[in-house]
Amino acid sequence: MTVDAVITRVAELARDHAPAAVIAVGTELTSGLHADTNGPEVARELESAGLRVDLISSVPDDEHAIASALASALTRHALIVVTGGLGPTHDDVTRDAAARALDLTLQADPEIAGALRQVTSRHRESGATAQVLRQAEVLSGATVLTPKLGTAPGQVVAAGDALVVLLPGPPREMRPMLRTLLTAAERHESVRTLRTAGLTETDVQLRVQRALSGTSGIELTVLATPALVDVVLRDRGASPDGLEHAATAVRAALGTAWYGDGEVTLAEAVLRIAGAAGMTIAVAESCTGGSVAAALTDVPGASAVFLGGAVTYADDAKSSLLGVDPALLATRGAVSAPAAEAMATGVRKRLGADIAAAITGIAGPGGGSADKPVGTVWFAVASADSTTSEVRHFFGDRHGVRTRATVTALDLLRQALVRRMDPTGGGDGA
Ligand code: AMP
Ligand code: MG
Repeated sequence: MTVDAVITRVAELARDHAPAAVIAVGTELTSGLHADTNGPEVARELESAGLRVDLISSVPDDEHAIASALASALTRHALIVVTGGLGPTHDDVTRDAAARALDLTLQADPEIAGALRQVTSRHRESGATAQVLRQAEVLSGATVLTPKLGTAPGQVVAAGDALVVLLPGPPREMRPMLRTLLTAAERHESVRTLRTAGLTETDVQLRVQRALSGTSGIELTVLATPALVDVVLRDRGASPDGLEHAATAVRAALGTAWYGDGEVTLAEAVLRIAGAAGMTIAVAESCTGGSVAAALTDVPGASAVFLGGAVTYADDAKSSLLGVDPALLATRGAVSAPAAEAMATGVRKRLGADIAAAITGIAGPGGGSADKPVGTVWFAVASADSTTSEVRHFFGDRHGVRTRATVTALDLLRQALVRRMDPTGGGDGA
């Protein structure tokens, strides 16, 4: 096969959404010394070309381990990309392993050998040249991918209907060869990430699955992070239009839990909605220590909407900065509905904001009690015409409680803004 024929074949496999596997070779990977970055990078590139990567594995620099991983991948994958182990040192045995698994012989390629000889002058040890020349050994019938960087060539061999691709381990040597292989594959946006807040991952999954019933060729993944859930829709034969239709149906089913697509953050969503409504925001924070303000100010252009906030940790600070009645704090406690509401109305008035959020809770590990255990957090949202509060009980350590409290405060602000924009709550498919 010529390189062009290989490129055409890869494009065909991509168009057919053929199953692909990536095998990363290196004892440093399986021993946990280095993270495998080639596997995910190759997978992302193959996926965006249309291939369906359903295996990324790591194996040590061991001929038997590599050969058996390759043989096993060949039973169900049409494209197998192996990275690493093509260098000159004793532990670079991927060529030998591939020869064993595919029952092929290795032969020195005179052209590669010639090129390698030109760079052997820098080696000092006797025997170095012979070792460097191992990189010229090519599987019988293989197509050679000439290195633009480095000395190790890549190789592509057909194994029945499948293609096996050997690429060098160093990412900067691997990358250009992978790009070459994918030149003719049509890249299309095959993934949509829809982001949600305020629903559990199970609720999100059930709603999305209902919305997708009757649709085919869409693969659903639900990714939960603390307090946020992402919905990933992947085109597995639905076509770009089908993917778009599915995304539209899913957004409708998620209703106000959906806050944006792709890389958007919750703080960005809050600022976007407030900006569209022409409203300004303030926050009063206790247990989150300013992280809500930090998330908002992380967004470029936040100053158009976000006026500022107060970190009022001690009771005295809540009273002196926000005007919270000390008697209220003494009788009801700083972690209570009236305290949260007084913080929100106080900061809103002090800063002249249209809407304000307040957070007061017990992040732990100390400070909990029977009726207010660690993880108890009160939230309030105040505007000119209403003040509401609610309590949440978060699990987890101090960091986890603070992270969830931050996300929840942003989401309560967002939900309040959404309700103001559309008081009928239209669009919520619950
Ligand atoms: P190799 O030619 O396989 O011995 O790889 C040479 C160097 O490339 C290694 O020392 C790593 O720094 C890097 N490398 C190899 N494989 C990977 C991988 N899967 N992910 C990230 N880096 C890698
Ligand atoms: Mg290695």
